[in-house]
Amino acid sequence: PSQPRKGDPIRLPPGVSAEAFESAIQDLRGAIGAENVQITDQALVDGWYVESPNTHDAFHIVDQEGLVSSAVVYPGSTADVQAVVRWANRHGIPIYPISLGRNVGYGGAAPRVPGGVVVDLGRRMHGILDIDGENASCVVEPGVTYFRLYEEIQARGLPLWIDTPDLGGGSVLGNAIDRGVGYTPYGDHFANHCGMEIVLPNGELLRTGMGAMPGPNGTDNPTWQSFQHAFGPAVDGIFSQSNFGIVTKMGMHLMPAPEAHQSYCFTFPRDDDFEQIVDLIRPLAQRRILGNIPQLRHVIEELAITGKRQHTFRLDGDTNANRQLTREEVHVAAAGLPLGECAWVFYGTQYGDRASIAAQLDAVKAAFAQVAGSRFFLPEDLPPSHYLHDRARVCAGTPVLRELDWLNWAANGAHLFFSPIAPTRGRDARRIHEAIVAAHARHGFDLFPTLCVAGREIHYITNIVYDRGDAGAKARAVRLMREMIAECAAMGFGEYRTHLLFADQVAGTYNWNHGALMRFNETVKDALDPNGILAPGRNGIWPRKYRGKGWEL
Ligand code: ADP
Repeated sequence: PSQPRKGDPIRLPPGVSAEAFESAIQDLRGAIGAENVQITDQALVDGWYVESPNTHDAFHIVDQEGLVSSAVVYPGSTADVQAVVRWANRHGIPIYPISLGRNVGYGGAAPRVPGGVVVDLGRRMHGILDIDGENASCVVEPGVTYFRLYEEIQARGLPLWIDTPDLGGGSVLGNAIDRGVGYTPYGDHFANHCGMEIVLPNGELLRTGMGAMPGPNGTDNPTWQSFQHAFGPAVDGIFSQSNFGIVTKMGMHLMPAPEAHQSYCFTFPRDDDFEQIVDLIRPLAQRRILGNIPQLRHVIEELAITGKRQHTFRLDGDTNANRQLTREEVHVAAAGLPLGECAWVFYGTQYGDRASIAAQLDAVKAAFAQVAGSRFFLPEDLPPSHYLHDRARVCAGTPVLRELDWLNWAANGAHLFFSPIAPTRGRDARRIHEAIVAAHARHGFDLFPTLCVAGREIHYITNIVYDRGDAGAKARAVRLMREMIAECAAMGFGEYRTHLLFADQVAGTYNWNHGALMRFNETVKDALDPNGILAPGRNGIWPRKYRGKGWEL
């Protein structure tokens, strides 16, 4: 299908006529200013990470215009957000909040219901409202990126670290409510949030945690960023990965900079070392000898961040494009890279003073020495361009963009994450890994597994890299995802997060006791959002107005 062009009809919200839409837009312009409302009538541009579109998913896995908005609005304040929510209720138009819309691999800025209105919070609401050096915390608006917060802390000369995910251009607030992770000891972003301000679907304003109690003389509560809970049920969790409210402010704890930190990596020679590596990590992580959540990567990722598949393997034409590279091909190609021949690479970081880091490293080395042929590298052992240097920055709270290099693997490179949770037990990890390898092979995709291994669970994150100009590749990627979701669920392994197109299937796998969890979520959704205006379908939660009408995929 051809791309939308200027003058093409706008993709309208479901059940809204062109006339009704036009008058609703006039109403919205009146409410928050005409210059803050933009109709999606221009050609769609995928852009790139830093200039990511807010109209659709830049990494489309269906047609580019398949998940497109009708308009984008730019509120400038919490009061504006309330006005937008009330407007949506008046007109029955679905709205989709984004902070920055760089949720790459999970759907970007796209609305789940085509023709939905994207509420781009980040464009105008990007204040760092507070950085408290004593409490080691901050309060941010949706548009604050990791880069921005990092730079502000540097500018103020504070001895504090932020925690950044693999890519630093996302929203500190948006990532935390989507339960993203980073790699310092403060890597669990939602666990390290402290206090939110939320616009509910009816326009009312709520503060969670100690913020529910007013401070003296109309000030914010003085312990809002000190204690996560209030009195009574912990409601903050229901605003993560949900469509129950729009978060306009969030507190985050910041890590006091440690005296020292040391990043390193280990390599392991055989694919089959996998099970033993996982079993060695478990006690190190449970005993908190590992300083952060380490990453275990397959050596193919060393190739993916250094070049294109076609060039590295001299593959030409379609004959070779749609198949998985063999173990041998990968190993031979990787042998020429700085880490030398190996199958798995473990990236870790230790924190503390020099003496304690040395002691921690001794324990880690003693454990991994049990794998025959394992080797240890420090950053200074490797050339400056090696990924370990970027890893060291991320693990010390310094945002980078290096992971974008992955996209070079395929022409028109786009990617999709598959992110199941597995137990940190070698035999279980091997079962899920083998199922994922086989599924990738069936559909002709190379496998890029990055395992974030904690003491009891693994975020097994694989990146499906595909050519978004190739409809066949997209269809294969979708089939691959659907099969992996089903196969993992049959083993009892579920996704911690997923692309918005797979949310229904993933939500459907959490169906213990006749879907008790989804029935609970729907009860909450219908109570908070009776008109079903806020992000219908987000995380598989559909308001009554949409349920059972063919929206679920
Ligand atoms: P990123 O930080 O990667 O740019 P996004 O802004 O795309 O992330 O946010 C990821 C997802 O989280 C969005 O699609 C949306 O569903 C949800 N989200 C982001 N910001 C908010 C917010 N302020 N309030 C409610 N939901 C939000």
